[in-house]
Amino acid sequence: MGKITKIFKLEDCSSDKQKFVCNECARETSHSIVSSFHESGFDDAGDGYRMDWDRRHQIIQCSGCDAVSFRIESTHSEDDHYSYEHDALVGNITESYFPNRTHQLRAINTYLLPLNVQAIYRETTSAISNGLFILAGIGVRALIETVCKEQNAQGKDLFAKINSLCQMSVITKEGSDTLHRLRSLGNEAAHEVKPQSEDQLYMAMQIIDHMLEGTYIIPQRINQVFGKVDKKCV
Ligand SMILES: [Zn+2]
Repeated sequence: MGKITKIFKLEDCSSDKQKFVCNECARETSHSIVSSFHESGFDDAGDGYRMDWDRRHQIIQCSGCDAVSFRIESTHSEDDHYSYEHDALVGNITESYFPNRTHQLRAINTYLLPLNVQAIYRETTSAISNGLFILAGIGVRALIETVCKEQNAQGKDLFAKINSLCQMSVITKEGSDTLHRLRSLGNEAAHEVKPQSEDQLYMAMQIIDHMLEGTYIIPQRINQVFGKVDKKCV
C-alpha cells in the first residue's frame, strides 16, 4: 500500500432530487439530498499505478413522508468495468442505506401476536433489515419452533411438530410443505453457518406472515370487530 490521499468536500445539493426506496412509503419515491459529504481518495502504489475511489455520505429526506435516512454511494477504480458501447471504463456504483431498506417486508399487526412469537418475529425482521442473513435464517426456524410450542404441536422433532400443526388444522397441507422447506433453510443457517439469500428470506417471511395472520391476527381482529363467539350459541 502506497501513500493514501483523501480530500473531503461538503457539496451543495439543495436543488437535487433523486429516486430512492423509502421504508415508510414502502416504494421508490423522490428524495431531496439534505447534505452530501464527498470523499475522493487515491492510493499511490508507485510506478504510475494508483487506485481511486469516491464516496458520498448523504442525509436524504423522502418528499412523500418526510422520513430522514442516510445513504452512502461509492465507486472504486478496482470495480470499474469496460463498456464496449462507450469505449471507456465505467464505474460500478454501490449503495448502502441506514436504516437498511425493508420495503419487501410487510408490516403485520405484531401487537396481536403472543409475546414470545412477537419477540422472535421482531428480532428476525430486524436481522433481515440489517443484512444479518445467517441470524435471520436461524430466526425463521426459531419462529416456526415458537409457533409449534405455542400451539402445543406434538412430536419429537420439528418435522413431526409441523405435521402435527397440519393435523390440528392450524396450517394447510400446502402450508406444512412450505414450512418443511423453511425448516431446512433454518437448518443450513444454524448447522452450516450458511447465509440465506435475501430473496429466500423475504419469501420465507411472506409465508410466515401468512401463517401468523391466519393463526393469530385475523381470529383476534374478528373477535374485536364481531365480538367473541358465544360457545353456547354455536
Ligand atoms: Zn416516504
